[in-house]
Amino acid sequence: MSPNTSNELNELGESASPGRSELLDRLRANQTWDVLIIGGGATGLGCAVDAAARGYRTLLLERGDFACGTSSRSTKLIHGGVRYLRQGDLSLVRHALLERARLLENAAPLVRPLPFVIPARSLREKLWYGAGLKLYDLLAGTHNIAPSSLLDRAETLAALPGLRSEQVSGGVRYWDAQFDDARLAIALMRTATDLGATCLNYLPVSGLKKTAGRVQGATAHDAETGEVFQLRARVVINATGVYADRVRRFDDPAAAPLLTHSQGIHLVVDADFLPGETALLVPETEDGRVVFAIPWFGKVLLGTTDTARADLPADPLPFSEEVDFLLRTVAGVLARPPLRSDVRSAFAGLRPLLDPAHEADSGKQGKSAGLSREHAVVVSDSGLVTVTGGKWTTYRWMAEQVVDRAAVEAGLPPVPCRTHELGLNCAALPAGVEAMARFAIRHEAARTIEDILARRSRALFVDAKAAAASIEDVGRILAEELRLSPDQLAESLRAAKGSARRFQLV
Ligand SMILES: Cc1cc2nc3c(=O)[nH]c(=O)nc-3n(C[C@H](O)[C@H](O)[C@H](O)COP(=O)(O)OP(=O)(O)OC[C@H]3O[C@@H](n4cnc5c(N)ncnc54)[C@H](O)[C@@H]3O)c2cc1C
Repeated sequence: MSPNTSNELNELGESASPGRSELLDRLRANQTWDVLIIGGGATGLGCAVDAAARGYRTLLLERGDFACGTSSRSTKLIHGGVRYLRQGDLSLVRHALLERARLLENAAPLVRPLPFVIPARSLREKLWYGAGLKLYDLLAGTHNIAPSSLLDRAETLAALPGLRSEQVSGGVRYWDAQFDDARLAIALMRTATDLGATCLNYLPVSGLKKTAGRVQGATAHDAETGEVFQLRARVVINATGVYADRVRRFDDPAAAPLLTHSQGIHLVVDADFLPGETALLVPETEDGRVVFAIPWFGKVLLGTTDTARADLPADPLPFSEEVDFLLRTVAGVLARPPLRSDVRSAFAGLRPLLDPAHEADSGKQGKSAGLSREHAVVVSDSGLVTVTGGKWTTYRWMAEQVVDRAAVEAGLPPVPCRTHELGLNCAALPAGVEAMARFAIRHEAARTIEDILARRSRALFVDAKAAAASIEDVGRILAEELRLSPDQLAESLRAAKGSARRFQLV
């Protein structure tokens, strides 16, 4: 490493980050954790920050990398959800808009206001969208970013220079926020760690431990070494997203499913398909949803879809029909429609959806501590607290409810939630592949080349082929930092190349 890089890393004052071996020693110390959280996505990491901020001894275990699931594969919007307006779920929108304001404040380096324009084909359409967005402004109240406004044809085309002009009669501009999802997850992990929590990736939980019918811990192992840990905890929170039913069955093999799943994909194309700094919302698609085209890291992010999917692959891939649907939808509105060969990166995420049968039948599933159309907190008869559903935007609000409830189950001294105004540790990565990779390994728990290229930097999500060009360099740095054997390095390179291929359309 060059002296400059070394100084740069030291100047960031990061020498205090606990390393993996120190964190593993805490597991070996045979202590009883107040709160054990399974799952290191938005929901679990939000719970870890909340629990640690209240002073509870907190452990979070993630089986892969932090945010390797749905939490790095979102549309990257911190929003109230204009589509929920249509469904009349105003209370949910209001809560999400309040959380939007908090995130703009508490995670300012990673969340920024973003203007959106909805093009209209007629005055009637423009007034209809305009009225809906005035309601959106009203629900945000004093937390509104800026008022929505009606645009004439010329203003609409100026805001969205890539738009097909023929059918445009005007539009509506409104404001929401955009964020970097995987980096926010890392910020949550670092904040929880700063607050004293122990957060470990590559530590899958394979079972729950029960004493006198109560869940009082879990069995986990280090995926890198195979070392097994028998862990004791006053309460266990299941925050495993689409996998929540699997963990519920560790508790009760007969537990009826809480969830169904669907898949949503995104495609990333060059910025010249939609130049400028304004996002486009296509308000009506052939499947009745909305589609976004959003400026992101110098490219445009297109998404998303909603495709029922019964299986639960760890690394889901876009279906060909979903790619066709997205390209067809944007071809209807963009002057120069992107083709498959223009796609720089493609990725899919799985949505946990509350099974409507659960709401009708919640008595049989356990006590329902909080249930909304969006998320559920369910406590089993043996005290396992499961949280699932929701969205990134509301992770803090969900965590508050979950930890309130978990503290009761655990008999912990009640402490009020302290995250409303808690600033998150959003330390930025140093520039340059070498400094960035070393920082990610030393201070952000990156363990593989993919961790670095997909979720510490976003290179694989932005342009998979370009990112693949730095795999060898990053591999060399990883091998040095983690003292990998030649075989381990070869395996890491092989995995990273496979991953880069999966981000590309064949
Ligand atoms: C296509 C799409 C677009 C979206 N866009 C937005 C958006 O723009 N804005 C927004 O607010 N929300 C959005 N969402 C919703 C948001 O992304 C999710 O609500 C959120 O990421 C869910 O986080 P989670 O932690 O519950 O789940 P996950 O991110 O899936 O995390 C669960 C974790 O549990 C781990 N795990 C599973 N089993 C075990 C085990 N046995 N041991 C240890 N760990 C385990 C998994 O590896 C995983 O990392 C979107 C969702 C989708 C699908």
